[in-house]
Amino acid sequence: MRSFKKLFEPIQVGNLLLKNRIVMAPMATNFATQEGLATEQLIDYYVERARNNVGLIIVECACIDSPVGKNIAHELCVDREDCIPGLKQLASAIHEVGAKVALQLHHAGSLAKSSITGMQPVSCSPVPSQVTHETPKVLSMEEIERVIEAFAEATKRAKDAGIDGVDLHYSHGYLITQFLSPLTNHRTDSYGGSLENRARFALEILRRCRQKVGRDYLIMCKLTIDQFIPGGLTLFETGLMAKRLEEAGLDAIHATAGDPNSSDHFPVPPMFSPRGCYVPLAEGLKRYVDIPVGAVGRINDPALAVQILEEGKADFINLGRSLLADSEFLTKVKEGRTADIRPCIGCNQGCRGRDRTKYFAVHCSVNAEIGKEKKYRIEPSLQQKRVLIVGGGPAGMETARVAALRGHDVTLCEKRGELGGQLILAARPPGREEIRHLTEYLTHQLMKLKVKVLLDQAVNVPFIVDFRPEVIVLATGSIPIRFPEDEKMGDPVYFAHHALGEEIEMGKRVVIVGGGSVGSGTADFLAERGHEVTILLRRSDIGSKLELSTKRVIQKRLEKNRVRIMSQAHFKGFEKGKVRIDHEGIEEYLDGDQVIIAIGAKPENSLFQEIKGKMEHVYAIGDCVEPRGIQEAIAEGARVARII
Ligand code: SF4
Repeated sequence: MRSFKKLFEPIQVGNLLLKNRIVMAPMATNFATQEGLATEQLIDYYVERARNNVGLIIVECACIDSPVGKNIAHELCVDREDCIPGLKQLASAIHEVGAKVALQLHHAGSLAKSSITGMQPVSCSPVPSQVTHETPKVLSMEEIERVIEAFAEATKRAKDAGIDGVDLHYSHGYLITQFLSPLTNHRTDSYGGSLENRARFALEILRRCRQKVGRDYLIMCKLTIDQFIPGGLTLFETGLMAKRLEEAGLDAIHATAGDPNSSDHFPVPPMFSPRGCYVPLAEGLKRYVDIPVGAVGRINDPALAVQILEEGKADFINLGRSLLADSEFLTKVKEGRTADIRPCIGCNQGCRGRDRTKYFAVHCSVNAEIGKEKKYRIEPSLQQKRVLIVGGGPAGMETARVAALRGHDVTLCEKRGELGGQLILAARPPGREEIRHLTEYLTHQLMKLKVKVLLDQAVNVPFIVDFRPEVIVLATGSIPIRFPEDEKMGDPVYFAHHALGEEIEMGKRVVIVGGGSVGSGTADFLAERGHEVTILLRRSDIGSKLELSTKRVIQKRLEKNRVRIMSQAHFKGFEKGKVRIDHEGIEEYLDGDQVIIAIGAKPENSLFQEIKGKMEHVYAIGDCVEPRGIQEAIAEGARVARII
C-alpha cells in the first residue's frame, strides 16, 4: 500500500512550524459581504477544511485597496480597520481546530472591473485587459507609493487580527504581475524596462511589509513562474526575481503559472491540462532559491502529491480545487481511505464558470456541501424509509449516497447495464476522461453503503406498485432534442450518443449541428479519430456556456484538428447525398456522410407525468426536470436526500 507519510511531515516556513506539508491554496469564494467583511459562511467554509488536517490555510485574496483593486463582487477586504474584527474571528476559529492561517493580499490592477468598482482600473501602463476589455489608468509615482503603503498597512492589520502570515499575490495577471511582466509594463521610469526595474514594485512592497511587521512574521508569495505567452515571464527571469525576494526577506513561494491571456496555460488549469502541470516550474524554481517552494496546479491525487515531495520537486503542496471538491481530502488520506475522496474533475464550471462580477458564490460541480458546511451536515433520518430511485446518473447516485448515509433502505434502478448516465458519454471526448472518476467514486460509495443497485432494470408503474416504496425519486435524465420536421430525421441523421458511444460506424465526413458542450466535444472526439468534421452554429460562438479556459482549449483543439466551423448556418436536410444548409441566408450543399444533431436536450419525464398526483412522496430531480449540468444534478440529489 502507498505510504503518504511524507505529506504529514512537519515543515518550518518562516517563523511557523506547520504540522504537515499540505497548504490550502487561496481561492476566491465571494462569501464575504459586499463591503468585504468576513461572514459566518466564509468562516465555516475555512474551518471545515482546517479541521480536516490542512497544515496552513491561505485565506483567499483580500483586497488592500477597495474598491479600485477588487475583481469580484464580494471580495474580502483588509484595507480598513473595520475589517479586523471579522478577520480576528476567522483566525481564531481556524486556530481552534489546529491549523495555521495566512491571508492573501490582493490588488487586481487592470483586472479589476469598473462594473464592480465604479472606477477606471489602474495599472503600471495603459495596456487594455483582454479579459475585461478596459484600459487602465496609469499609476503615478505618488500613487505607486500609496499602493505599496496599502500592502504594508494590510499586512499590519492581518497581524493585528491574529493571522499568522500574509501571502502576497504576485501572480495570475493581477497588479504586481502587471508590473513584473514585460507584456504589461511599458514604463520608462524606475518601475519599467529592465528586470530590476520591473521587480522594484514587488520588492518595495515586500520590504515595506517587513518594516511594518518585523522579521518574525510569515510573508510568502504566490508567484507566476511562466506566463506561457511569447515575450512574457519565464522561469529564467522569475527565478532571478525570486532570489531577490528571498534576499529581501521572503519566507516561501508557491509556484504557479499561466495567465488569463494565455491561449493554453491558465492560472486555474482545466481538466485538459495534465495533473501536476506546473510542478516542473516549482522544481525549476528550487534551483534559484533556498526558501521552501510549494507546488500547485491540478494536484488532485494524493499519490501525485506525495510523489512530488518524495522526489524533492517541491517542499509543500498547495491543494486548491481538491479541497473544494472534498473538504475531508486529507483526513481520508490519513485514514487510508483514498478511494473515498470525492475527486475534483477539473471542470472549472462551479468554481470558475460563474460570473464573479455578480454575487455568485463559489460552487463545486461534485460537492453540494460547499458554502453550506453547517446546514448540510448529514444527519441520520428519524425514520428509515424504503426509497426507490429511478436513474443511475449523477443525480440518482448522489441521492442514493446521501439517503443511504442517513440510514434509509435505498434501491437504485438503472435501465442501462452500467451506472453513470450522461457522465459516461461526457467522459468520452479527449481530455475529459477524469469525469469517469466521479462515476467511479459514486459507484464505490453506493457499494460501500450497500445500496441495492439494479442494472438493466426499466421501471414502470406496475414495477413501482409492486415495489411499494415510501419515497420515489425520479432521476430519469434527458433525451436529445429532435428537429420538429420529421422528414429531416432518419438515417443518416444521428445524435451525439451514437458517435460518442460508438454505437454506429461513422463515415469520413461528419456534419455536427450545434456547437455547445456536447456538439464541440463530439467534434473533438471525431476529429481526433481522423474524421473530417464541420460544425454548424446558429450563432458564432463555440461552447458559449463553457467556462473561459475550457472554451479556449476546445477552440484550439478544434482548430488544430481542422474542424470547419460555420456560423449562422442552419441544417435544412439531406438531399441527393449532400447536406443542405442555410448559411447566412444562402442555400448551400455540404459533403457529409452523416449528420449529428447536438442542439440540446429535453427532460425524459414520462414516468413522472404518469405517477404525478397519483402516488405520494414523489420527487423529480436533475435533467428530467430541466437538462443542465453535473452541478445541478448533484445539488438536487443532495438536497432531496436530506429532506426525505
Ligand atoms: Fe473541481 Fe469542477 Fe469542483 Fe471546480 S467545480 S472544484 S473544477 S470539480
